[in-house]
Amino acid sequence: MRKIYLDYNATTPIHPEVIEEIKPFITERFGNPSSIHWAGREVKKYIEEAREKVARLINADPMEIVFTSSGTEADNFAIKGTVETFKEKGNHIITTSVEHPAVLNTCKYLEKCGYRVTFLGVDSYGMLDLDELKSAITDKTILISVMFANNETGTIFPIEEIGNIARQKGIIFHCDAVQAAGKVPIDVKKLNVDLLAISGHKFYAPKGIGSLYIRRGVKLRPLIHGGHQEKNRRAGTENVIGIVALGKACEIALRDMEKESQRILGLRRRLEEGILKTIKDVTINGHPESRIPNTTNISFHYIEGESLILNLDLEGIAASTGSACTSGTLEPSHVLMAMGIDPVVAQGSVRFSLGKWNTEEDIDRVLEILPGIVERLRSMSPLYRRNK
Ligand code: PLP
Repeated sequence: MRKIYLDYNATTPIHPEVIEEIKPFITERFGNPSSIHWAGREVKKYIEEAREKVARLINADPMEIVFTSSGTEADNFAIKGTVETFKEKGNHIITTSVEHPAVLNTCKYLEKCGYRVTFLGVDSYGMLDLDELKSAITDKTILISVMFANNETGTIFPIEEIGNIARQKGIIFHCDAVQAAGKVPIDVKKLNVDLLAISGHKFYAPKGIGSLYIRRGVKLRPLIHGGHQEKNRRAGTENVIGIVALGKACEIALRDMEKESQRILGLRRRLEEGILKTIKDVTINGHPESRIPNTTNISFHYIEGESLILNLDLEGIAASTGSACTSGTLEPSHVLMAMGIDPVVAQGSVRFSLGKWNTEEDIDRVLEILPGIVERLRSMSPLYRRNK
């Protein structure tokens, strides 16, 4: 059976050029970058090259890049590091209700530790209101943490405007750019962000490598204590293979972004238009314009997203729902709920996230299979029969 992968926001395959780049580090280049002899020095040089490449992707200076084990660690470092550093100044954090758990649960944890957290709401497109953000700021606000692009809907937040507000008020601004990096241009200087997290496995590097941009002059208390790696900002012997891979993935992303994002946007439109044309009672969730090119989140009314995913899987098509399965109970997605979508409709939502190896044939195959599955599931749905 032909396999079609439409879940690139969950993770991506490793790019063949990245695989080539890391091969010598799996075989002969084994040194510990902290060692002063030839084996260490050789590896250290490649780490610094990778740092330059990561910096170039987001228009940072290489010394502003700290390698981490993941996007999750980068978010934790940014948030916990900031509140630890600025706890004398205040105890208030502003974030949104649609963040990834890496940010959301870190903020909820800090709430338990005595910090006050404002979770800003969003409108039906998943967009936040800048006036609401402004009026949430108090003289105790020490951190604003807002994601660049939402992982479930793809909606892009007005990061530059938020950056300007934060800078004017002298508040640290962290941006979780895990779903944006490699997909849309990011310029940390223009955006006025102080901290920005990215993750390798979302754009063709392996899992288990990320980085945090820390603007020059911003001093964060480290999250992980130990050796002097990463200029005392993140202890632990470096994940050399991951770092080299992340550097290469950033180089490729910068090189291919313009062409690839246009191509992928074309595929997404083909998919959305095809679905709207052939299936009744569907709605597209997320912002119509301000959205990363590869992501579409679609509610198929009267059916369950999980059943749709399982049926697509039987046909070799990998996608995901907007809902998370927690300890056996099917919870509707917190993102779609925050957008005010009816919980029953939210349960029928599916995220298709496209990437480098998708073709028009993939999309056409989905469009061939999907209407039949939806029709079959609806024919078994009491909800559908009641409403029709
Ligand atoms: N932030 C966002 C928006 C994400 O989508 C993800 C992963 O899905 C993360 C953070 C966490 O990144 P990682 O998987 O590298 O820990």
